[in-house]
Amino acid sequence: MHTQPDERRVVVVGGGVVGCAAAFELARAGYDVTLLERDAIAAHASGKSAGNLNPLIGTSPPQLRFAREAFALHREIAAALQAAGCADYGLAPVKRVHLGREAADRPELEQLAAACNAGNGFSSHWLDRAALQRIEPRLAQDIAFGVLTEGSFSVSSADFTRALARGAARHGAKLVIALVTGIVTRNDRAVIVETNSGAIACDELVLATGPWVAATRDWLGIEIAVAPVKGQMLRLLLPGGAPEYDFTWQSTSLYKRQAEEVWAGGTLEHCGFDTTATAEARTALLDRAARIMPMVAQAQVLEHTAALRPMSVAGGVLAGAAPGWKNVYLANGGGAKGVLLSVAIARQLRNLLHAGPGEPAPIPPPDAWSLDAAPLSRL
Ligand SMILES: Cc1cc2nc3c(=O)[nH]c(=O)nc-3n(C[C@H](O)[C@H](O)[C@H](O)COP(=O)(O)OP(=O)(O)OC[C@H]3O[C@@H](n4cnc5c(N)ncnc54)[C@H](O)[C@@H]3O)c2cc1C
Repeated sequence: MHTQPDERRVVVVGGGVVGCAAAFELARAGYDVTLLERDAIAAHASGKSAGNLNPLIGTSPPQLRFAREAFALHREIAAALQAAGCADYGLAPVKRVHLGREAADRPELEQLAAACNAGNGFSSHWLDRAALQRIEPRLAQDIAFGVLTEGSFSVSSADFTRALARGAARHGAKLVIALVTGIVTRNDRAVIVETNSGAIACDELVLATGPWVAATRDWLGIEIAVAPVKGQMLRLLLPGGAPEYDFTWQSTSLYKRQAEEVWAGGTLEHCGFDTTATAEARTALLDRAARIMPMVAQAQVLEHTAALRPMSVAGGVLAGAAPGWKNVYLANGGGAKGVLLSVAIARQLRNLLHAGPGEPAPIPPPDAWSLDAAPLSRL
């Protein structure tokens, strides 16, 4: 039987969006939370993401239900952050147009339009060339059709991550900048977290270290099948200002962000832990974005970012107990959707830690969790 939540000391390792969401959920549930981050809150992918909260685009079928739950949870989290005075993270509705040039582009767009019209709060409308030119005259002339989708949201992922951390702190969590170097264990439990600035006792341990999972193998003998996938993006200032809509053509998107800015993204690169922002990616992103809006050729590049998505090898998220350990939990594998999924991963952990009477029914675990169970077995 669990002790009362407020008696348990929970250490969360990782100040990305997943660790911060976990810290926020657990702190406001009454746990004694310490969040450990080696660099800065949102220093990595969580501060360099496009911040789309869209459960329908780019979500694999097994993850769809979890992604929808996450999307719905963002409203509740927004209200909770507002109540904590931490609401300023640019949560805004998105109008996004998926563009096509030729017949081969149609099937994917038709599938997307059908998914959006399935009565789940999203909607879609087909636009012909003339309608597209009316909503954005700077679009390339050879774009023939598009699907306007509405219903999703976006956030500034850096601000969202920091808002979660601040919200956790308002609920009593301690935020500590420290590198975790090891774990002391006793009888299948983690009892002490060792850092470069001292040791911290814990009753529960949440590991949300993003792609940096190799250390977990040494600490706990668990192989976590999560790999880094690099993503580069460009922050641009377009002549004439940002468009009113987001635009996507094949794998390239132009996102309206932060008043005047447009972000062009992104790449998907399997190159280990290299986070170099490369000239090749810059050229490719600009070239492809100019196929959407030729004026991109005259845009001012404000920033070129590169970061590592923590991509689960099996394709699902990790949001559960670490195999073979009684008080260690894994919160990882957000991949290309980690900002969206962070709040559901955090809720899943809260439900696991605190399955008391009268609690809301837990979110069903992501279907892909079982796929990850095999590589997760304790060594
Ligand atoms: C270009 C790009 C675009 C994206 N667009 C979207 C999008 O539109 N929508 C969406 O939902 N997602 C998007 N993502 C994905 C999303 O950004 C990630 O899935 C998410 O940020 C991962 O969060 P995380 O907390 O798991 O990992 P991270 O942000 O990597 O955080 C992990 C943290 O753990 C810390 N850490 C690791 N080891 C230790 C240690 N030993 N001690 C202390 N601290 C440690 C690290 O310093 C790091 O801060 C995008 C990603 C990229 C790169």
